[in-house]
Amino acid sequence: MESCAATACSRSRAKRGRYCKSHSKKLNKYGHPLGRPIPRNWLFHFAAQAMPVIVAHSTDHPGIKLALGELQSLLGAPHVLLGSRAGDHIARIAATAIEPRYVLAMVASVALFDRDQPRFLRDAKAYRFAIARAVLSLAPCPRSIAPRSRALDAIGSLMVTRYSALLAVILAAIDTTDRQARERAAAMSAPLPTL
Ligand SMILES: [Zn+2]
Repeated sequence: MESCAATACSRSRAKRGRYCKSHSKKLNKYGHPLGRPIPRNWLFHFAAQAMPVIVAHSTDHPGIKLALGELQSLLGAPHVLLGSRAGDHIARIAATAIEPRYVLAMVASVALFDRDQPRFLRDAKAYRFAIARAVLSLAPCPRSIAPRSRALDAIGSLMVTRYSALLAVILAAIDTTDRQARERAAAMSAPLPTL
């Protein structure tokens, strides 16, 4: 019997695919056989960094404005773009009256996390899954209806395809704010010039 294709795993393969049961499960949940969930407190930490940028520029930045409009349409009619399975999951968060800026902030939080911890999400697929999981974490999900891998990939792909360029702008804006805060702090604690 052939063994699991994951690094350092000697268990035998599941009936389907190249991995053992445990690594197949991770592949389906996280997009990678060695995937792990991003800790929630990290996601909220980074979402809280992105949110002020999104809110401050929700009307004066054409990309953020457009994204919020598109996400509003997505929340309003998720099945049109995503089909039944993935659409059901977006409908689940829409039902809790989640606003588009929260969705965008969760997408940005994964981009920020990935920049901070570049080895955690091992490839583009794991990144897409993490984005989908972050968005869907906005509403509780009973384990019995946990999203299938195809739904996660569809949601993640949609966000990455649409918003990669915008995410780079949001990340740059956060860097500028951080730099200004550091410069201000340095100015405030600068020693007086000696006479
Ligand atoms: Zn394995």
